[in-house]
Amino acid sequence: MTKIVAGNFKMNKTKAEAETYCKELLGLINKNDNHFIIIPPFTLIDSVLKGLNGRGNVGAQNCAIAKNGAFTGEISAEMVADSGATYCLIGHSERRHVFNESNEDIAKKLDMANAANLNIILCVGELLEEHNKLKSVLNAQLNALKGKNLNNTIIAYEPVWAIGTGKVALAEDIVKAHEYIKEYVKKEFKTNIKVLYGGSVKPENCKEILALNCVDGVLVGGASLDAKKMAEMIKTAK
Ligand code: PEP
Repeated sequence: MTKIVAGNFKMNKTKAEAETYCKELLGLINKNDNHFIIIPPFTLIDSVLKGLNGRGNVGAQNCAIAKNGAFTGEISAEMVADSGATYCLIGHSERRHVFNESNEDIAKKLDMANAANLNIILCVGELLEEHNKLKSVLNAQLNALKGKNLNNTIIAYEPVWAIGTGKVALAEDIVKAHEYIKEYVKKEFKTNIKVLYGGSVKPENCKEILALNCVDGVLVGGASLDAKKMAEMIKTAK
């Protein structure tokens, strides 16, 4: 079964680099490979959309808690949709832990992204010191979904200690967390949900991770910056 490969560029690349990347990526993947999402900084959404020429999907890394107004430096979900991006990451661990976003902020962003008809990737995951209370951390993060339309939402389970560290969660821990998230969402919100794994995924380890039944795809940071590595992971996900 084809799974999703989402690439989060974080705060990297210039326009020229994004253009070269898209050309290289399209040259390496097969004609029907569109099961990927490129998530560049806001300033590169247009370049990536043009560079991909209708292939794959393009997303933003964040959106504001409000529709518009006095929020200097922020970008609203409506603006993200207006840019042509169709996905929005919400609650990435860097937003939660570097920019102190709370679950309440994230709930507001989910409303904004839903109102703008964006597909949502909600990131959840525990800090290393929270590993022994994983379920309660996930519950609190997942409760931001309460009362939302979940038709266009997927979850990315990203243990914070695995992001950008080269440490990948053990397969059995990935399975436990993904199964728990799916069961919790089913029980609380009466719907099935897709769950991606994120945290130091790269071509060398993605085959094993993607082979897990409960993993619907991967969210990749560092390794997605290299078009060759991204292409390899996209091919592996098929
Ligand atoms: C991420 O940014 O969501 C991520 C998982 O990063 P990395 O793959 O670099 O760990």
